[in-house]
Amino acid sequence: MSGARRRVRTQVGIVGAGPAGLVLANVLLAAGIDTHLVEGRSRAEVEQRARAGLLEHQVVEYLRAQGLADRLTAEGTRHGWCDFLCLGERLRLDYAARTGGARHWVYPQQFLVRDLIARLEEAGHPPSFARPATAVHATPDRARARVECAELTVECDYVVGCDGRHGISRAALPGGLRGELTHRYPYDWLTLLTEVDRPVEGVLYAVHEDGFAGVVPRTGGLARVYLQVPAGDEAARWPEARVRERLRSRLAGAADALPNIGRVTDSGVLRMRGAVGRHLQHGRLFLAGDAAHLLTPSGAKGMNLAVADAADLAQALVRRCRDGDAAELETYTRRRLEHAWRIQEFSDRLLRLLHLSASEVSGAPFTLRLKRERIQRLVEPGPVGAAFAQEYVGSGTAVPGPAASVSPSSVSPSSLVEAVR
Ligand code: FAD
Repeated sequence: MSGARRRVRTQVGIVGAGPAGLVLANVLLAAGIDTHLVEGRSRAEVEQRARAGLLEHQVVEYLRAQGLADRLTAEGTRHGWCDFLCLGERLRLDYAARTGGARHWVYPQQFLVRDLIARLEEAGHPPSFARPATAVHATPDRARARVECAELTVECDYVVGCDGRHGISRAALPGGLRGELTHRYPYDWLTLLTEVDRPVEGVLYAVHEDGFAGVVPRTGGLARVYLQVPAGDEAARWPEARVRERLRSRLAGAADALPNIGRVTDSGVLRMRGAVGRHLQHGRLFLAGDAAHLLTPSGAKGMNLAVADAADLAQALVRRCRDGDAAELETYTRRRLEHAWRIQEFSDRLLRLLHLSASEVSGAPFTLRLKRERIQRLVEPGPVGAAFAQEYVGSGTAVPGPAASVSPSSVSPSSLVEAVR
């Protein structure tokens, strides 16, 4: 397509139509703040990209309060337990029981993305698809921020980079503020989307001396399967026969509880990395979601944290743009880093439980027995399991003691933004 450069003037420019950008755009528009969202990929690509699928309790309560969860709650399924398989024994953490009823919602990310795009369309503000941003200008000395795309310039009061790991917004921070703290784990996960002959009833984490394996529900006929592989390995080195053989050995002991794993519809290797930016704002630019931090898929936290960032920033921007109060906006980085590190620590703790490090492999029987003991602490009544359950399901409440629990219905919408912070 060619033609004259189009100029759009808006209050908040958003780069990236993933969960962070789409939630932010919807919430701002509903609050009367004008936005324009640019997305590099086509609509079809964005709407078909299968990634996450487990949504935390508190995040869904937030989306519900914003009127963004109608289809999710009508068609999603709820899951309140997960199993750990270790030394041939299956130990169940009934986290719904430990949190007063909080459960995950299972709803594929691409379905949520479709719903959020449809809402923007209904509001008369569809994203500009196939418009990769090539530059963001938002330094504090500017009266306005600017997002440049091929054939389109978005002029705005604020710009929010929700463009994920490989976007360009982070690079718009000055050199001294761009740094991240990062960690590369010494293994990767082969990730498969597979057909199943019946729904997976709950997440299964298998801790095995040969390596971790996981099975996670997605839809009635699809599951996500993870298999630990050596760091740097390639999917091409994992033909289906090899995958099936490893799954058989690592999941032995849970075969009766699992559906038959059928055709593999998608596969790839996830490089297991964690990262958290040091600064998530500068001048008129803010970062949210994977552009601000990266989590491994353990604990299923990335999309949830992306939505939580969007919820926080939406409220701060509404206070600034509608009420003239900039205090919350100025302290965005501090709040989000606090939350991101808390989640990063949880995800790291779960990873360490699920994997044997290279130094542990030689003493595998002893280490596995220790891990079995740690899992026992999580699944038995007591404060350790209760705290883990709250963090896992994201019920967002403090855990003062073993008896502490909160009824999900007691969480008021106004406390949700606070809680996801
Ligand atoms: P993204 O979803 O990455 O969206 C960023 C968007 O920005 C993309 O659409 C991209 O095309 C666009 N973009 C990039 N550059 C530009 C540019 N220059 N101009 C315009 N647009 C641009 N998380 C969970 O919470 N639960 C799970 O169960 C879970 N499972 C996962 C399983 C897998 C296999 C993977 C890979 C991830 C999983 N995650 C999970 C993580 C989750 O998918 C991400 O954390 C989430 O997508 C982050 O959302 P986001 O909006 O920040 O970024």
